[in-house]
Amino acid sequence: MSNKTLTTLTISGTCVNLDRIFKAMVVIEIETGLIRDIGSWSHHADIVLYNDCLIFPGFVDAHTHGREDATGKESYKEDFQTLGEAAVNGGVVHVAEMGNNSKPPVDDESYAEKESLARKSRVPVTLYAMIGPSTNPLKRKVAYKLCHARTTGKNDIIFFPSRQSIEDAAKRYRGRHASHHCEDQEILALCKDERFHEDKRPAKAEESSIDFAIYLIENYFGRGKLCHCSVLNGLNKIMAAKERGVQVTCEVTPHHLYFDQSMITDQNRHWMQMNPPLRSLVDRMTCIEALRNGGIDMIATDHAPHTEKDKLEGASGQPHLDTLGPFTTWLMSKHQFRAQDIARVCSFAPAKFLNEFLPESYGNGYGRIEAGYVGSLTIIDMGKPVTITKSMLKTKCGWSPFEGVTFPGSVRHTIVKGQVLK
Ligand SMILES: [Zn+2]
Repeated sequence: MSNKTLTTLTISGTCVNLDRIFKAMVVIEIETGLIRDIGSWSHHADIVLYNDCLIFPGFVDAHTHGREDATGKESYKEDFQTLGEAAVNGGVVHVAEMGNNSKPPVDDESYAEKESLARKSRVPVTLYAMIGPSTNPLKRKVAYKLCHARTTGKNDIIFFPSRQSIEDAAKRYRGRHASHHCEDQEILALCKDERFHEDKRPAKAEESSIDFAIYLIENYFGRGKLCHCSVLNGLNKIMAAKERGVQVTCEVTPHHLYFDQSMITDQNRHWMQMNPPLRSLVDRMTCIEALRNGGIDMIATDHAPHTEKDKLEGASGQPHLDTLGPFTTWLMSKHQFRAQDIARVCSFAPAKFLNEFLPESYGNGYGRIEAGYVGSLTIIDMGKPVTITKSMLKTKCGWSPFEGVTFPGSVRHTIVKGQVLK
């Protein structure tokens, strides 16, 4: 080791930005954790990568559930330490974390309290603050989350009894960035006696709620993000809004891209339950196509760690952090995503959302392999398939919907601010 390696980490290989693929040596300054320079490919780098490896700007997951809060009530499912381990395992370098906790972060004090718990994570965590019928904006600049309907978590602080109460809250949060869980509570209430989960939460509930979210964004928030889009008609509404200049982005989850209702059986029904639920094959194929062509902005896992016991008792959601990196190789090999598309949907687009909430020490933030950006990288080996098993998972809940699935590629390294964590 030369002296140089004490102050920098150098990686040579094939780099992928959203606009190009290039061979280079990335030089990360250890002290700042930022990319100092992009030099010529050299076999003298600390890490030298050949043929099948692709160096991506670090994957950012804009939607995870870490479960830990000051009450500790749900830390048996996941905590910030295991959330961070699962992220590293899946090639994710930074997570944004939702606050549907027993004690939700809704003001400066509860937000700071939860933030101190999040320091246990090996990857940096940005917390969402929750909006409820009687909450008010924080003094500091944060990302907000607003649930249009009741989903996981029973807390009434963040449950809106009516559309009017949501609109009243939107007036108080004018100009803030909010992410919306779009399902209409009134339609869910009308369908509550249906037999199957997917019929209790039908597509029209999401479509109607998307209309309302776009209305709120146009009239109050100014901009925003729609979480886990899953239906064709909802996507059409988002595309139309984008076309008339509304500042709206949207996420899609790995489960809505990989599974659909035709794959639900009596045996797997509990494991395939989430909100919004799985949709039709047509919806799924539309989501894949929209993600590839840029209509959907980003993949966000909605990582929802519930134990196997919780799932059998009816908890909604699936864990997806451990497997995000391998999952992207399925998109590349089975659905004609170019490497640049993966850079766009796993890094550039989520970074565009996240960067404004980062401290100044993060330089230009995430999203590109370029001097001045964060020195966090996701290195995918397209030549090394991986079969997902329980034993390789780091999430505390200990299972994956992909168990037994072989993905065509795997995560070779996860580098977080110049530290090789995997
Ligand atoms: Zn969620």
